[in-house]
Amino acid sequence: MVFLDNAGTTKMFEECAKTYSLYACQEFYNPSAVTRKSAKISMEINEVRSLILKKLGTMEGTVIFTGGATESNNLAIKGATRGGDYEYVFSNGEHPSVLNVAKSLQMQGKTVYFVKLKEDGKIDLEDLVSKLNYKTKLISCIYVSNETGAINDIKAISCLRDKLAPNALLHIDAVQGFMKIPFSVEDFKVDMLTFSAHKFHGPKGVGGLYIRKLNYVKNIVDGGGQEYGLRSGTENVSGIMALKTAIEKIDVRKNYENVHGLKHKFNEIISKESEIKILDFQGSPYIESLVFKGVKGETMLHALEEKDVIVGLGSACSSKKAGNRVLEEIGIDKNDIISSCRISFNAYQSLEEIEKAAETIIEVYNDIRKRVS
Ligand code: PMP
Repeated sequence: MVFLDNAGTTKMFEECAKTYSLYACQEFYNPSAVTRKSAKISMEINEVRSLILKKLGTMEGTVIFTGGATESNNLAIKGATRGGDYEYVFSNGEHPSVLNVAKSLQMQGKTVYFVKLKEDGKIDLEDLVSKLNYKTKLISCIYVSNETGAINDIKAISCLRDKLAPNALLHIDAVQGFMKIPFSVEDFKVDMLTFSAHKFHGPKGVGGLYIRKLNYVKNIVDGGGQEYGLRSGTENVSGIMALKTAIEKIDVRKNYENVHGLKHKFNEIISKESEIKILDFQGSPYIESLVFKGVKGETMLHALEEKDVIVGLGSACSSKKAGNRVLEEIGIDKNDIISSCRISFNAYQSLEEIEKAAETIIEVYNDIRKRVS
């Protein structure tokens, strides 16, 4: 099987399963208890926080472990948007775990702005400028689009924040960037950042929120006060330790180069079939889309699964809904959207399997075309 839906999730490393099992079945202690064994677990979790800060390229701030990126995004936004006569800015390219929180703020009567995307899939910086002022309390935007792979210029956004909205916090959803694309928080000057382990071969249901200062947000769940009072509930120790194993195994730069090579080869083969259009926004090498002229994306997805090639239909969280709001926003033709599939690679795939998958895609497409014509 060739799995080309790695933006949806990735296969966990075997090593993570071993770590997971160790902390679930042997080192199973509750980090909040007062025994020495528990104190050791608590210390090990703190070491994972330090490792993540190092990977993010910063010495400042900390990491709050959560149940994944949806929860991190909720904590960052709901936690920072309590009270006051403030304004909040989001982009139209956000994942539902940001977009729907923004919409609920709007329903509560808060002033919420949505920034347009340009044709290249990135945030329209001119539109952003028009929405920033002294009242802006939070800017939240996606770093790498899970739909298109477009990469937002976070440095430019943080410069605009400094100039035009100095009271605003800047949060980025870096789920499709962390451990995939080389970047640094120090360089970006962001205040909060969301990540999720299952996007980089770690376990599902564990992620985190990087936060430069703990007082940026208030807790959204009340309880025992774990995670600096910002995320009550016994820590997912096995998940956090398995996340660490995934981080230690990954060489971000090497993987980035590998995936570049895979995408290049894949596109070289696909482009031999002129009726398949490649939607590559020249952003992340991990993500792109294909448009199959005259055939529905969903038809292709199911036919390809029969041939052991798994592709995606945009965000898994929204793929059951018709259309694709992000592709629509950047002006992709409605028929093209219906005929599209999302392709997303991982760095551990071989050139041979990617070549084979590209050839299968062309074969399956031509087969369906023949049958429908
Ligand atoms: N943000 C982005 C950009 C994503 O791609 C995803 C996963 N589709 C999420 C947030 C949600 O992540 P999780 O599954 O960890 O809640």
